[in-house]
Amino acid sequence: MVGIKKGGGEMRMKNFMEDVIIEVFQEIKGTNPDFCSCDKCSRDVIAIALSKIKGRYAASPEGEIFARVEQSNRQVRADALLAVMEALDTVSASPRHDRES
Ligand SMILES: [Zn+2]
Repeated sequence: MVGIKKGGGEMRMKNFMEDVIIEVFQEIKGTNPDFCSCDKCSRDVIAIALSKIKGRYAASPEGEIFARVEQSNRQVRADALLAVMEALDTVSASPRHDRES
């Protein structure tokens, strides 16, 4: 479902994780009744979840990241799910949308 390109650098790893995060987010956003699914809140959740995930993979040497991501795809999705759930809680508790416009 998610295209993986080999031989990429950090930027592609980031894009890959972003795809996973967005996919997971689409799947579970409806399960949190407190979550306002406006564009701003959705982007916040994705940004927060991505920063959590990124921290976990930052230590991997470049190039090695892809092998690990493919081998442990289930683990990656589990990590993504956890990060998105936490991010949903964070954004639901204090949405930033009403502070702008
Ligand atoms: Zn909102």
